[in-house]
Amino acid sequence: MDAGTAPWVAKPPDLEPFEAGHDGVPYVLSFAAPAAGPHVVLSAITHGNELCGAVALTRLLDCGVRPVRGRLTCAFVNVDAYQRFDQTDPFAARYLDEDMNRVWSCATLDRPARSREHARAKVLRPVIAQADYLLDLHSTSMASAPMLLCGPTKKGRALALRLALPAEIVADEGHLAGPRLSDYDAFADEARAPTALLIECGQHFEPSSAEVALEAALRFLLHTGVIDRVPPNLKPPRNVAATRVLEVTDRITVRTPAFTFVRPLGSLEVVGKAGTLLAHDGGESIVTPYESCVLIMPARSIVPGETALRLARAVPAAPGHRV
Ligand SMILES: [Zn+2]
Repeated sequence: MDAGTAPWVAKPPDLEPFEAGHDGVPYVLSFAAPAAGPHVVLSAITHGNELCGAVALTRLLDCGVRPVRGRLTCAFVNVDAYQRFDQTDPFAARYLDEDMNRVWSCATLDRPARSREHARAKVLRPVIAQADYLLDLHSTSMASAPMLLCGPTKKGRALALRLALPAEIVADEGHLAGPRLSDYDAFADEARAPTALLIECGQHFEPSSAEVALEAALRFLLHTGVIDRVPPNLKPPRNVAATRVLEVTDRITVRTPAFTFVRPLGSLEVVGKAGTLLAHDGGESIVTPYESCVLIMPARSIVPGETALRLARAVPAAPGHRV
C-alpha cells in the first residue's frame, strides 16, 4: 500500500497517562492479584508504527482491567519510536536506530547500550524475564489475515492451539538478524516453562487490526486465568479451533542489494507448483521448494541481512484434521 494513500482512520492513542509506569519502568503497568497465579505480559509497539497493540492495551487499561489471579503487566515497548508516528510517513516510526525485535538475546542485552532501542530493551529486560506468559502484539506492512507466531517450540505451538483464536498458526524459527522479544531466553527453551507468542493482527492501517489485537489479548488473559470474565463494554473473544499449522521450512534472508521479487507476492498466498520462481538475489534464483507452498509475510522493503520472505508447509493441527 502506498503510504500517501493509506486509509488510516484511527489516531494513535495518547500514552502520556502511562508514562510514570510502575516499579520505576516508564510505560509499563503492572497489577498484582490477591490470589496466586501466572505473571502474564501483554506487549505492544515493539515496532513503533504498529498501532493496533497500543489501541488494544489502552482500551483494556481504560476499562480498568485487573487480574483476579497472578499478575498482569501491560508493556508499551518502543514508545520513543511510537511518539514519532506521522500519518504522512507511517512506515518511518517502525524504529529509531535499530529494529527492537532483533535484540532479544542475553549476550546482546548484556552489552552496553548501543542504540535507543537497545537501551530500552535493557530497561525492560527484568520485566520480560519475570513473565510466565507473554503475548507481543504486532501488525504487518502488507495486507494479511491474522497470524499467531508460536516459534519453533512444542510448548509455543500447544499454547497457540489452545488459544483457539481466529488466526493462522505459524511455527517459525525467527530471523537471522536476531531474536525477537518472543524468542527471548526461557521462551525459546523447551526445558523451561515460560511461553511467548507473537500475533500479527493484520495490516498496520486496517482498523480491524486493533479489534484483532484486543480479541487476542482478552483470549490470552482468559486462557491463562489472569482474568475470569471479559470487562464490561468489550466483545467476548471467539473460540475457533485451528485445523492446521503453517510450519516455516525456509527463511529467505536478503543477501544482496539486487534482491527483487519477480512479482508482488501476497502474505499467506499459496503457490501450487514446486519450482515456481519467486525472487532473484544477485545471481541466485529463489523458487518454491515444494507444492502448495505458503508464502509468509513478504517484506515491503528489501534490506540485506533482513528477512525477505518465509516459506511454509501446512500440516494438520492434530491427527485426523485435514489441511
Ligand atoms: Zn512488528
